[in-house]
Amino acid sequence: MGKVAVGLAVGVAVAACAVATVVVGRRIRSRRKWRRVVGVLKELEQSCETTVGRLRQVVDAMAVEMHAGLASDGGSKLKMLLTFVDKLPNGSEKGTYYALDLGGTNFRVLRVKLEGTRSSTLEHDVYRQPIPQDLMTGSSEDLFDFIASSLKEFVEREGDISELSLDRRRELGFTFSFPVKQMSVSSGTLLKWTKGFSIEDMVGREIAGCLEKAMTRKGLNMRVAALVNDSVGSLALGHYHDTDTVAAVIIGTGTNACYLERTDAIIKSQGLLTTSGGMVVNMEWGNFWSSHLPRTVYDIELDADSPNPNDQGFEKLISGMYLGDVVRRVIVRMSQESDIFDPISSKLSMPFILRTPLIAAMHEDDSPDLEEVRRILRDNLEIPDVPLKVRKLIVKVCDVVTRRAARLAAAGIVGILKKIGRDGSGGIAGGRSRSDQKMRRTVVAMEGGLYTGYTMFRDYLHEALTEILGEDIAQHVIIKVTEDGSAMGAALLAASHSSYPVDSVQLL
Ligand code: ADP
Ligand code: MG
Repeated sequence: MGKVAVGLAVGVAVAACAVATVVVGRRIRSRRKWRRVVGVLKELEQSCETTVGRLRQVVDAMAVEMHAGLASDGGSKLKMLLTFVDKLPNGSEKGTYYALDLGGTNFRVLRVKLEGTRSSTLEHDVYRQPIPQDLMTGSSEDLFDFIASSLKEFVEREGDISELSLDRRRELGFTFSFPVKQMSVSSGTLLKWTKGFSIEDMVGREIAGCLEKAMTRKGLNMRVAALVNDSVGSLALGHYHDTDTVAAVIIGTGTNACYLERTDAIIKSQGLLTTSGGMVVNMEWGNFWSSHLPRTVYDIELDADSPNPNDQGFEKLISGMYLGDVVRRVIVRMSQESDIFDPISSKLSMPFILRTPLIAAMHEDDSPDLEEVRRILRDNLEIPDVPLKVRKLIVKVCDVVTRRAARLAAAGIVGILKKIGRDGSGGIAGGRSRSDQKMRRTVVAMEGGLYTGYTMFRDYLHEALTEILGEDIAQHVIIKVTEDGSAMGAALLAASHSSYPVDSVQLL
């Protein structure tokens, strides 16, 4: 009896020890795994660091690259493209003009009625439609036929049939937000595709001509009066409302900026004369690169997997097309380091499955239990039952990636201001101190879903602007959102570059 009892007791003790060892072992392993996951976050934070010192280096690099890009073609990764836009709308434009905006997720067609007096709200109709995925990588004819058909449908919905019999050709501002080598304000050839478009037979071809041919095929009599980039459209609309507007920045699916430059500073086209003495330069800043930009392994992988590696480096750190995928790549790495996301979902390995608006929604989830994060992980990534502490970690990842993007965009903006002497430092050559120069009111037009739709992004951008410029200077720099400026501005530019003198323009 005694022996049996002892034997039993020993057996129980051994079993208990074994269970305890397993439990403790599991706990240790799980803690170790958690530490590894936290380590992934720490590493991310370090490699995304954007101290104000580093941002100032980015500012300087931007200004230096702008100079280099203006000095010669190919002098910099910044193409600094001439736009031939030498006059910006001022409010005297009259008539009905159309615009077509192609260059991102949606394409838009609009008609705007101008009364010849600057109006704070421009009367316009908009038609918006997503671009079918297959057309983004098909043939140019298919893409332009699709666009011309939509345009025709829109024009025909005008209602007033008598307009169609007017002998005056309708005029269109065409916003084409890809790098274009402009030959005139209304013509240019495509240099390369970005943002997921890839229609090989288009590269090197004249864009306005392609659209006009498609319009003819569809029986639509319309002339492209201005071919512009979306940022140029925003600058035009910004300037229409506020003549202190000197630059425009787009932060949506992609990112770009343009600004008003003195023609004598555009060294690569010496002898270029404009009546205004200035010209809008399309920076194509998405392609900006500098060794000062903080880059992570995730950015390197994303770039390598993209259809345009080593290209659009700044855009890949900043814009809406990519932020979600950087976050997804971090989550993948975390799932490889531990089993916190087990069972591994195959969705997680699908590029671009986590769109940027989703990371915004997770980032801005202010419910105590992070219910929205749970929902997105479950519904979009098919990862169920993620514990709260892991959900918190994911919010932090969104924060790090978005904060870096917003702060770098702010540094880019200050780079432009520095180049044109509006950063309070006396221009890139420096010299004068901040105090002996009166800072002029400086407006930067801003557009794009990432900036307008993602509050945290916007707040971080503003915070960084103030940090870099200092409060005294920053208060003179105003970021003004232009609504549908990429398209509205194109219509305004079509008006200011119309082939019909203003006096003969009939109000439709
Ligand atoms: P596009 O750049 O395609 O012409 P937009 O300027 O409207 O169009 O930008 C749309 C892009 O902005 C989306 O692809 C997305 O990446 C981003 N975006 C839109 N809304 C939000 C949001 N609420 N939060 C974060 N990003 C957003
Ligand atoms: Mg756009």
